[in-house]
Amino acid sequence: MSAAAVEIVTIGNELLRGDTVDGNAAWLGRRLADAGIRVARRATVGDDAAAIQAALRDALARTGTVLCTGGLGPTSDDLTRPAVAALYGRALAADPGVLAHIERRFAVRGITMPVSNRVQAEVPVGAHVFANPAGTAPALALEDAALGATLLLPGVPHEVRALMDAGVLDWLRARWPALKAGESAVLRTTGISESALFDRVLDLVPGAAPVEVAFLPAWTGVDVRLTSWGEADAARVTALADVFAARLDAWIYTRDERDLAVVLGDALRERGIHVALAESCTGGLLAKRLTDEGGASAYVHAGIVAYHNDAKRRLLGVSADTLRTHGAVSEATARAMLAGARRAADASCGIAVTGVAGPGGGSADKPVGTVWIAASVEDVEEAQLFRFPGSRDAVRQFAAQAGLRLLHRLLTRPQP
Ligand code: ATP
Ligand code: MG
Repeated sequence: MSAAAVEIVTIGNELLRGDTVDGNAAWLGRRLADAGIRVARRATVGDDAAAIQAALRDALARTGTVLCTGGLGPTSDDLTRPAVAALYGRALAADPGVLAHIERRFAVRGITMPVSNRVQAEVPVGAHVFANPAGTAPALALEDAALGATLLLPGVPHEVRALMDAGVLDWLRARWPALKAGESAVLRTTGISESALFDRVLDLVPGAAPVEVAFLPAWTGVDVRLTSWGEADAARVTALADVFAARLDAWIYTRDERDLAVVLGDALRERGIHVALAESCTGGLLAKRLTDEGGASAYVHAGIVAYHNDAKRRLLGVSADTLRTHGAVSEATARAMLAGARRAADASCGIAVTGVAGPGGGSADKPVGTVWIAASVEDVEEAQLFRFPGSRDAVRQFAAQAGLRLLHRLLTRPQP
């Protein structure tokens, strides 16, 4: 049998209007991927019987298996059940088991069931019913040889999740007896652009199939994600990740999902050392990133935001001469800020950042985006000049990430 693939059709006028973001489709995509089932395509339609039927007919013709969410409620805009029953040529009939389930849910809350909920117990004849542990409307599976299988789920997100775990996913899995769980590996990189990274591995991509390779850029860096869709096993995915990792070693900071600040925090905790931070243009962002996790006092000593030149002098001991001769955004100032922060905190490692975040303040030789970063561990120190692109916010985010990377590299660099 061909690879496990489904399509998703989400239903609701509120989704088309943008009042509700289609979180169901995103969540289902991840959940299915973990199970080795690929979502081949997604569609969203309004609460309209003809549109629902057309979307389902199209999707079924391609993949033969469709998951729908939405429109199973008790109100007049909830049209999915009759529309799908009609598509499959089935009558709707009250299901005593479902009705009892719905009545019970109201009874435990001490409420009489509103008459309009009765409609939710109407089930297309022959449908498989999945009782809803988190709500009233059950999930339904309809299947025939001509159309294939349609699974109907309610729209409420936590009900979708509960029903997937209460049998819907197992029912789907059973359609592909040889299905293996989806495997994925991630290499999180920073400090290299997407295209430069791709240049280094492009010859590896064609041979990776059936493992899929995705390059996912964000301001924090580029994640390389390797995914198998129930066809390759974990060992193959890991072996392939090793081959990619060998090419990208200088930029990889983790092979799990951790943020760079967490990776660095863990490395500092392991070494038993505390970091001191001296920040100008990032305005405390480095300190924020490093203290986002609880227990950060195990590795963060202090962060000094020295924005004004006077503060760089008074709080960090940067000399007036350094500031006058080299300017606030310079290698000499970054190194002096670093030394000052480490001294003030009596810390054995540190990061200092000084730059032009914009939108104003740039000059010909120091345009907006110019940032000097220095980091040190004990007596090993490094300073680096960056020219970051983008808005004030982007420059500050890039600078914080680069600062974390510089210290992380010093910490993890093989000892000579
Ligand atoms: P119920 O049986 O509870 O009435 P339903 O099947 O009728 O559920 P809807 O009425 O379509 O579902 O939606 C219920 C709620 O879930 C609404 O608040 C809606 O905005 C939200 N919702 C519907 N579809 C989605 C979706 N794809 N992603 C996220 N939220 C959704
Ligand atoms: Mg709806």
